[in-house]
Amino acid sequence: MGKGFFQVPTAINEPVKSYAPGSPEREEVLKQYKAFYNSTIDVPLYIGSEEIRTGNTKPMSPPHEHQHVLGHYHLAEKSHVEKAIANGLEAREKWANLTWEQRAAIFLKAAELIAGPYRAKMNAATMLAQSKNIYQAEIDAACEIIDFLRFNVEYMSQIYGEQPESAEGIWNRVEYRPLEGFVYAITPFNFTAIAGNLPASAAMMGNVVIWKPSDSQVYSAKVIVDVFKEAGLPDGVINVVYGDPVMISDTVLASPDFSGIHFTGSTHVFKALWKQIGNNIDKYKTYPRIVGETGGKDFIIAHPTAKPQQVATAITRGAFEFQGQKCSAASRVYLPKSTADEILELVKADVASFKKPGSPEDMSNFITAVIHEGAFDKLASYIEQAKADKDAEIIAGGGYDKSVGYFIEPTVILTSNPKYDTMCTELFGPVVTIYIYEDADWSETLKLVDSTSEYGLTGAVLSADRYAIDEATKALQNCAGNFYINDKPTGAVVGQQPFGGARASGTNDKAGSMQNLLRWVSPRLIKETFVTPEDYRYPFLG
Ligand code: NAD
Repeated sequence: MGKGFFQVPTAINEPVKSYAPGSPEREEVLKQYKAFYNSTIDVPLYIGSEEIRTGNTKPMSPPHEHQHVLGHYHLAEKSHVEKAIANGLEAREKWANLTWEQRAAIFLKAAELIAGPYRAKMNAATMLAQSKNIYQAEIDAACEIIDFLRFNVEYMSQIYGEQPESAEGIWNRVEYRPLEGFVYAITPFNFTAIAGNLPASAAMMGNVVIWKPSDSQVYSAKVIVDVFKEAGLPDGVINVVYGDPVMISDTVLASPDFSGIHFTGSTHVFKALWKQIGNNIDKYKTYPRIVGETGGKDFIIAHPTAKPQQVATAITRGAFEFQGQKCSAASRVYLPKSTADEILELVKADVASFKKPGSPEDMSNFITAVIHEGAFDKLASYIEQAKADKDAEIIAGGGYDKSVGYFIEPTVILTSNPKYDTMCTELFGPVVTIYIYEDADWSETLKLVDSTSEYGLTGAVLSADRYAIDEATKALQNCAGNFYINDKPTGAVVGQQPFGGARASGTNDKAGSMQNLLRWVSPRLIKETFVTPEDYRYPFLG
């Protein structure tokens, strides 16, 4: 067989399409949306070469129209999870031994399928399943997943090229082995791209995977499975199960072959999984890799020199896009007294300019629904609490209605208490809380920002004063894994702003970076000596 040191295509970020009125992409995605909306699907478990229908199903509905049924998905029993593990391990030998460029080609092909023939399907499915407006769907279910796939292939080839020095007479080589066993990928509802990337990044490095998508994302997860299949991913490499997350995790984590977890979701779930892995440690053949990106309580702090219009836009976009359901969404804001009134008026004007929350099919809707009834009820209760509390005041929004869809109005709470509940707790919805500080207390307020929440995911400082920017950058060093200067704290792009946070926000292995892929390999050093010694005596012995 011919050999070569292959160079992968240079990764470039997928351009974001505009979906402006009259554009062909707008027409295509709306047609696809209608086609999905007017039909139903039946989503099986994908285990090895089989599509398994257990008969125990749950319905899938758009959050903006919860009485409409898009189809059903089948729930796994414990035996199916065990079967998925067995199929994965069976597929492992061939997959781990496949040459890396063949693996790369599958994922590059998947990227091109999403960029082309599957783009409208990925976007329409994400609009329906997660209630994203078309722009939010495009930057996630098209561009970000394409970027993950392309950039990860590039990082993979860079990792393989990373080799040690060799002294005279010897040759040192490092091979990057897949983990010995299988990887468990658990994905959240809020990003179709994360759902695809968590199993794909581990699989790209030669691992086999058990993937458990979120119940609220199964509809768009199915399109990802279709893409991977069409791209030629062999059976058994990524096995997909849905159902009771506790039963599935108990079964997976009890396997001696469990070798890594790739998780994104809430902090309390990740902590519980970590404990469980610790308790099971004697069962495992290898120390499992634990990678988790979790919650956030992301901040914006404005210096008195910041331009009010820029601060207001950072708040409006940072807090309310995708109904605040981004782990990076701004949810606590610190404004200086001297400009606070002007900024608040601008924010209120922005919020008043949004139409009432509605369906993403109506492309004039900026705000759509939150993901499910549990999220709706939780957000409504925090809004009611703020209405009742003396140290909080709702200055915009505050309405909610779940009669048709789970609609929460974008809501701005003003508090006089910097430790008010919604300044500290992740709500994961279109609710932002604002605290006004005395201009003279800038330095003290930075300490407050640093000490208010257990999280450390994203944050932004806006200022025209370079000394103030420098001070904030230093004071908030451990407060955010992604720190933004004169920008909103959301919208990380693969290959440009690798994403992840520390403290209670996760292990900070930076999704869409080389660091992340390194967690899915176990390097083996091979030293070869060309002239092997034949006498134990060193010269110093005389
Ligand atoms: P979630 O924690 O409810 O669910 C995430 C996944 O964990 C789902 O697949 C779910 O079924 C599963 N799960 C739930 N309970 C489980 C259990 N007891 N055992 C095992 N698995 C379980 O989170 P979500 O609502 O889907 O997503 C929102 C959360 O994710 C927010 O906290 C957000 O900040 C976080 N998030 C973080 C990042 C990041 O990069 N840091 C990115 C996206 C989302």
